[in-house]
Amino acid sequence: MSHHFDFLVLGGGSGGIAAAVRAREHGARCAVVEEHKLGGTCVNVGCVPKKLMWYGASIAHVLEDSRDYGFNLNGAEFDWSRLKASRDAYVARLNDAYRSRLQSNGIAEFRGRGRFVGERAMEVNGDRLTADHVLIAVGGAPRWPDIPGAEHGISSDGFFELESCPKRVVVVGGGYIAVELSGMFQALGAEVSMVIRRDLPLRGFDQSIRQALHEALRESGIEVLSETRVERVERNGDNLRLQLSQGRRFENVDTLLWAVGRLPRTSGLGLESAGIDIGEEGAIPTDPYQNTSAEGVYAVGDVTGHHELTPVAIAAGRRLSDRIFGGMRDRKLDYGMIPTVVFSHPTIGTVGLTEAQARSNYAEDVRTYEVRFTPMYHAFTSKKHKTLMKLVVVGEEERIVGCHILGLGADEMLQGFAVAIRMGATKRDFDETVAIHPTSAEELVTMR
Ligand code: FAD
Ligand code: NDP
Repeated sequence: MSHHFDFLVLGGGSGGIAAAVRAREHGARCAVVEEHKLGGTCVNVGCVPKKLMWYGASIAHVLEDSRDYGFNLNGAEFDWSRLKASRDAYVARLNDAYRSRLQSNGIAEFRGRGRFVGERAMEVNGDRLTADHVLIAVGGAPRWPDIPGAEHGISSDGFFELESCPKRVVVVGGGYIAVELSGMFQALGAEVSMVIRRDLPLRGFDQSIRQALHEALRESGIEVLSETRVERVERNGDNLRLQLSQGRRFENVDTLLWAVGRLPRTSGLGLESAGIDIGEEGAIPTDPYQNTSAEGVYAVGDVTGHHELTPVAIAAGRRLSDRIFGGMRDRKLDYGMIPTVVFSHPTIGTVGLTEAQARSNYAEDVRTYEVRFTPMYHAFTSKKHKTLMKLVVVGEEERIVGCHILGLGADEMLQGFAVAIRMGATKRDFDETVAIHPTSAEELVTMR
């Protein structure tokens, strides 16, 4: 069968669904093509199940601290499979909610793998779909390293399939996923080693945060092997044996998790038949308005190869639909000042420029304010996680161009500060704001 739409969206994840719903609100006839579960990476194997596991890990930390707060909870047991079952059921409810959302908005859904067969023309399970405007929002997939035995490891997708907590885990990589999942494994009962190829985790983050995180990981009991690579993996019965650089070996590893980045899911999409250029590592380059090299074809989200965050995909998709169907000719996403949180223990929240970036942009006009303290929650707990806060300011008026926090509550703290900083807040604006006491956040408005 052939169908024609105003707007055809390839990929029913964060960016695709947001763009389709917004286009429909502007009156466009829309269709979404999805080969797996609606909701994409974020809902099925990303933010949502990850955050639920993070809550589980946070409870483990609180249980540990509970003794110091006078509770006697000896014998508390944790059942990973029960948490997984509840988590999976919640994700299934979200999948249904996404389906209802498409239906109630009158958006057609085509199940199956979509492939371009011409300009703004696609084939899905024998149907031929054409549209005036086509959005590519196919996201990405975990990258696998090219070393012997790599197939014995799992990716973050495999993490969400685990039915029980492994005893001995090695996580390779030093980015968001490696840091987050290492923390969860450790808190929920595994012995964890992280293998990173740099000196510190989270390349691209502010150096003070990277150092503080490195310390926090080690203090929490995670072994961090810096400037190390895994060279070979062998199966040894039920366990894995890992050969590392510098002659080190790991024996008896039951789970090896590769967290070495993600790649855009563009192979086999037939992009060449639609005149769509592909850039580095399969990403689709766009201009600031999300236009690809082919007229009437756009790309948003992880497939563009940068700012791989759900709210970014959503914001870019909605603005694109506002532009094409809502008459807002200049509407586009400003990719500057995007706040982000790493769900480590404790969390990291960051927005704007790192000190190094600010110094390279503004040279000697840069000043920093930094505090490090033990939050009151840890006043008498035997395990303590320090908090670090850093503001990067420029010019005489001390405009805040970067805010970096590692510590309890950083995840919930940052959003409001991000609004102020995006609006051009200065250090004086922060100083003039009356503190909320006793909180950690108050330190951000009382720094000297
Ligand atoms: P996706 O959400 O991946 O959607 C793409 C969809 O396209 C998928 O459903 C896929 O099945 C479908 N598709 C692909 N090819 C085809 C085809 N040919 N035909 C039909 N359908 C196709 N971001 C945050 O902001 N906060 C977090 O806490 C966070 N945690 C994360 C944790 C993990 C473990 C991971 C992996 C990612 C996390 N992210 C997080 C990133 C976030 O999930 C992504 O940035 C976001 O999902 C990207 O949205 P998207 O629309 O570009 O792609
Ligand atoms: P990242 O890009 O964050 O990190 C990848 C890591 O893998 C880096 O430390 C990188 O090292 C390392 N690496 C790459 N190739 C190799 C290799 N061959 N051998 C060893 N190490 C290697 O990717 P993630 O997979 O962690 O996450 C993907 C994206 O998803 C993130 O960038 C983020 O945008 C998003 N995400 C967001 C989350 C959130 O918002 N809380 C949570 C999870 C994911 P190096 O630094 O040296 O290049």
